[in-house]
Parts: sequence; C-alpha cells; structure tokens
Amino acid sequence: MSHLKSVAVMLPLFTLTMLFAPGCSDGPRTDEQVDVVYRCSETGEYVSAPPQPVPAVNPDTGRATLQRALYCSRCQHWYVVPPPNVHNGPVAGYLCPKHKLAMQEQGPLPE
Ligand SMILES: [Zn+2]
Repeated sequence: MSHLKSVAVMLPLFTLTMLFAPGCSDGPRTDEQVDVVYRCSETGEYVSAPPQPVPAVNPDTGRATLQRALYCSRCQHWYVVPPPNVHNGPVAGYLCPKHKLAMQEQGPLPE
C-alpha cells in the first residue's frame, strides 16, 4: 500500500515538471511584462504598474482610480488617456492633444 501511495504522489509532480519544463527554455524575455504609467485621479500622482484594465487599482490607496497616461516627448508632458467611452480604441492610438502625434508609454515620471 505504501508503495502505491508514493507513486500516486510522484506521478502528478512528474507530469507538472514535464509540462512546465519546455516553457522555461523558450526564452523568458518574450513574455516579460513592462510596466506602464497611470495617473491617479484622486491623488494626482503618476504611478508605474503592470498593464491592467482601467480604472486600475492604486497600490497605495487600494482604490480603482488609475487612468492610463502617455508621454509626449515634444511637450515633455504626460497626458491622461480618456476612458474607453470617450477615447474609443487602443490606448497607444491616443494622440498628443497639441501635436496630434503618437505618444509613448515610457518616459521620465514627474516628481
Ligand atoms: Zn505634444
């Protein structure tokens, strides 16, 4: 009985190892998540966090007050992307209100 029991424990572990082993060698760089920038509508602060649906949860307050922000390198300014019911489309498609140019997700965060 005890031998059977140990096989029952070992088998799922072995199967799991086989399932995950090929995924590990595929180069972890491809699915590495890059943080994006949000502006908190409550505190007015800019926060860097993993991509998630808006309004995202502010880790400092625990409340869903974060809106996506994009950086215009010409203005050297962050612009808050309007909510989906106002800006209909991907966040990256939101253009600088001044220059009508595509903005970037990364940039120097305001102090
Ligand atoms: Zn601009």
